[in-house]
Amino acid sequence: MATQPMKFAIFGDIHANLEALQAVLYDAQEQGCASYVCLGDIVGYAANPVECLETVRGLNCPTVRGNHDEGASGNSSLDELNPLAYAALMWTREQLSEEQRQWLKDLKLVRQVRDFTIVHATLDSPGNWGYVTNRFDAMASFSYQFTQVCFYGHTHVPRIFEKDDAVRASRGTEVSLTRGTKYFVNVGSVGQPRDGDWRAAYTIYDVQAQTISIRRLEYDIETAQRKIHEAGLPPLLADRLALGK
Ligand code: ZN
Repeated sequence: MATQPMKFAIFGDIHANLEALQAVLYDAQEQGCASYVCLGDIVGYAANPVECLETVRGLNCPTVRGNHDEGASGNSSLDELNPLAYAALMWTREQLSEEQRQWLKDLKLVRQVRDFTIVHATLDSPGNWGYVTNRFDAMASFSYQFTQVCFYGHTHVPRIFEKDDAVRASRGTEVSLTRGTKYFVNVGSVGQPRDGDWRAAYTIYDVQAQTISIRRLEYDIETAQRKIHEAGLPPLLADRLALGK
């Protein structure tokens, strides 16, 4: 019997951008992904927190909690957030039902799925919401990574870190897994990319082919922006979508 083909669509930092989420899920299906994994920050910033939460929940897939999920759940103080994030989260809290906030609250910070790990921010202190932006940050997470591959988000910048004798940031968006090498992979952001490319990002992990590839997709950004304006959220949240920042 042939090996069961298995492709995971791994996505996070949706930030209530329903148009971007729908584009990603459509593409994942086209690409033959049968399994989904969500790295958190489902809500916060854009105008469809309820719809995004229910869409992700409907996938019934492994999901970890992001800092915006935590903020919107009413679990933590919002004092340390920037003013834009603060305004969006106060608005988001009002949109969500008590039951939806509880669902966000109950999400775990770190999970193992099959043979890989998922986390929103860092493996060394997942609840402190630090940012992994360079190989030194990645090194700290690698010390707590007990699977060959770990997927994370939070920076909204897709990147593949590799560790064998040393830790390197790979420039590419695709990698074939090599035995003895560990991978710490930022899957990019669905709903608010910050690498200067406005297109939605997510990652496919092909278990059979042993490849990881980061994909970019155009989506209906005008509608997402219009909804942000109509909701009365800060206009800058709409502007930045087009800049990819
Ligand atoms: Zn985020």
